[in-house]
Amino acid sequence: MTNTFARLGSIVALLLFIACDKEEAGTVFVDSRLVPYFTSFQKEAVTRGVMIDLTQSKIAGEIMPFEEQTEASAQCVQPAEEGHYIRIEENYWSGLSELKKEFIVFHELGHCVLDRRHLDDQDEAGRCLSMMHSGSTSCKNEYNSDTRNSYLDELFNH
Ligand SMILES: [Zn+2]
Repeated sequence: MTNTFARLGSIVALLLFIACDKEEAGTVFVDSRLVPYFTSFQKEAVTRGVMIDLTQSKIAGEIMPFEEQTEASAQCVQPAEEGHYIRIEENYWSGLSELKKEFIVFHELGHCVLDRRHLDDQDEAGRCLSMMHSGSTSCKNEYNSDTRNSYLDELFNH
């Protein structure tokens, strides 16, 4: 019962989303919790000489509970026709630190906007050389306030 309602809910939401998208040509839905990270992504790109206009690229972003527990908690979805969008599982999002939220959003925008693939290269100490690592155990994630700048350099100027 609950599942059916949840499913109906998401279908209605999707229809609204599509309807909205058609009405307001050129605007896409971005969850207000994601907006600061989208803005900062664009700013960091421009600082590094990469001109990005997320509104122009029609990148949408949503945070919502996922029905399928098996899905990755954050994704860049690239449908064949419509614009790309990122989706993040709501409970997962609430538990993240500010820096981890930035990491997650920037990583997904790396896929969606910069068209980057996963890169699991590491240094001698096993630290990931890119924030585009696959998140598996192949290298150690060292994204912190000290390393942030060099990771962003790598992200935008790969
Ligand atoms: Zn990824």
